[in-house]
Amino acid sequence: MALLELDNLSKSYGGTPALRGLTLRIEAGSVYGLLGPNGSGKTTTLGLALGVLQASGGTVRWFGQPLSSASKRRVGALLETPNFFPYLSARQNLLLAADVKRADHATVDTALELAGLSARQHDAFRGFSLGMKQRLALASTLLGNPEVLVLDEPTNGLDPQGIAEVRELIQRLAAEGKTIIIASHLLDEVEKVCTHVAVLQRGELRTAGAVRSILAATDRVAVRVAPD
Ligand code: ATP
Repeated sequence: MALLELDNLSKSYGGTPALRGLTLRIEAGSVYGLLGPNGSGKTTTLGLALGVLQASGGTVRWFGQPLSSASKRRVGALLETPNFFPYLSARQNLLLAADVKRADHATVDTALELAGLSARQHDAFRGFSLGMKQRLALASTLLGNPEVLVLDEPTNGLDPQGIAEVRELIQRLAAEGKTIIIASHLLDEVEKVCTHVAVLQRGELRTAGAVRSILAATDRVAVRVAPD
């Protein structure tokens, strides 16, 4: 049984198709990249998978079942930058986020630890570097100890140091056994952190499979994604 199955999923915005008949299976234990240029349908795919958006057609199944409040608790998502309080500490911010999510406060310590922020947990958020801020955002997805993380362009807007930190964190979380689904427009990012990739262009699936076969040198031209 696949962890996430998208079957013939479609979405139109006001009559304009953004996603056309996407069928995809994501297995537990993978770091699955959704690769495509701006406007190719990555965010739409994640929104539909998480039930934030209503599909125009097709089905989403998590753990073999339609999306439910029980399956939502097993999935941590980072679709947009959380609004952390600048004058509160990293820990205080996560405690508040845990309250909002009704997640166990005990998972705050684990999240800080995994994000490499335990030593800075009492420092105010506003003094953090870009990479630390984004690592805290990733830590917030770990509250409640979900099995799956869904991340939309998690390195966007970061400086090179922050990008390196966040990629390293994603690799660490994968090594901890999390399944990770990550939207990215960066081929090298997918190549570095993902085990599997689905390439989207103009709302359609171009190809999908193991990164090493899809992005093998001979195939690179075929998956090079031109802006829409
Ligand atoms: P980006 O990296 O820019 O977010 P993306 O690959 O995530 O790109 P989507 O955001 O899913 O792509 O957008 C797919 C298409 O749907 C684009 O043509 C976009 O303009 C359109 N679109 C997305 N959201 C809406 C919306 N709320 N209303 C109308 N059109 C939308």
